[in-house]
Amino acid sequence: PLQAGIVGLPNVGKSTLFNAITNSQVEAANYPFATIAPNVGVVEVPDARIDRLTELFQPKKTIYTTFEFTDIAGLVKGASKGEGLGNQFLSNIRLTDAICHVVRCFDDPNITHVETTIDPVRDIEIINLELILADLQTVENRIAKVERKAKTKDKEAVAELSLLKRLQPHLEAGEPARTLEMDEEEQAMVKGYGLITMKPVIYIANTDEEGVSSPEDNVYWQQVKDYAARHDSEAVLLCAKMEEDLSGMDREEKQAFLDELGLPASGLDQVITRAYAILGLQTFLTAGPDECRAWTFRKGMKAPECAGVIHSDFQRGFIKAEVYRFQDMDELESEAAIREAGRMRMEGKEYVVQDGDVMHFRFNV
Ligand code: GDP
Repeated sequence: PLQAGIVGLPNVGKSTLFNAITNSQVEAANYPFATIAPNVGVVEVPDARIDRLTELFQPKKTIYTTFEFTDIAGLVKGASKGEGLGNQFLSNIRLTDAICHVVRCFDDPNITHVETTIDPVRDIEIINLELILADLQTVENRIAKVERKAKTKDKEAVAELSLLKRLQPHLEAGEPARTLEMDEEEQAMVKGYGLITMKPVIYIANTDEEGVSSPEDNVYWQQVKDYAARHDSEAVLLCAKMEEDLSGMDREEKQAFLDELGLPASGLDQVITRAYAILGLQTFLTAGPDECRAWTFRKGMKAPECAGVIHSDFQRGFIKAEVYRFQDMDELESEAAIREAGRMRMEGKEYVVQDGDVMHFRFNV
């Protein structure tokens, strides 16, 4: 499963946010992996479509799809040189698919800031610089290897060296690898390096309770949001302490609390939704009297691969899929009515599954 790693300077609210995540962790029975590592939190992806299907089908079980967060401790200035928990930190962050970068946007004289003053953009840049320096090291090591081979006029090595020689000054100029223009072949090459700054980023502005209710007046948030926009990244405003409170509530309580504050969704739910989007993830649904369930797939996957998300046997023996749009069920309220309206489709191996498709797979065992 895909994971987002939580990073940030000390005392910015990472642990508080991670507590909120583990408090809202899915029930073990609904999660097919026996053990969840202590630094991993598995949360449900909120999805109103599943709620609506549950209302219509009254199934025995309702299962949301999940998303994983990893708490990546130990980033300090100098991490790229192995300071603090530097090396451990870097190998952990390399394993994640996206980065959730928590930024301190609250004033509180009782809580020390490692850099003394509150300055979100400076903080962001401290961390990003460490990540860029770590990548620079990776690139330089690779150059040393490829250079020799390129001298023998090995075609692949020459092409690779030319990419590396563009990456190097780009990183040296303080730019993340993801902003370098690359063609498809180069994209594939760079994938193999596991560069940290190729991963998509969501900046999480951690603010006080007042700060979430009036974002327009929140200067820190404006700075983070602008920074994210200028760097092709996402930003979410939340109050980690409030998320911690919310994580102890049941669904209705939580909704009432958010309504009272006039907030559309909890900050954590917004982070999950954004992470889902930047990773190119979508959801298909299965629905019946036993179970209504959401499943995660990568945008562009075809019907047999999606069947494989449920079980590898479904993919191997795939024959076809019966498909309808969630909107059709929302409107017509039964599969019989969908059939009658001619909106139930038979799709084959080449069908590219769409977000919100309700699927019945037919397969040989
Ligand atoms: P970490 O070092 O990044 O994991 O930060 P923690 O989650 O341990 O938070 C550091 C301190 O800041 C703790 O005492 C938190 O209770 C406090 N804190 C976290 N979020 C907020 C906030 O929004 N406002 C205030 N005033 N304090 C916060």
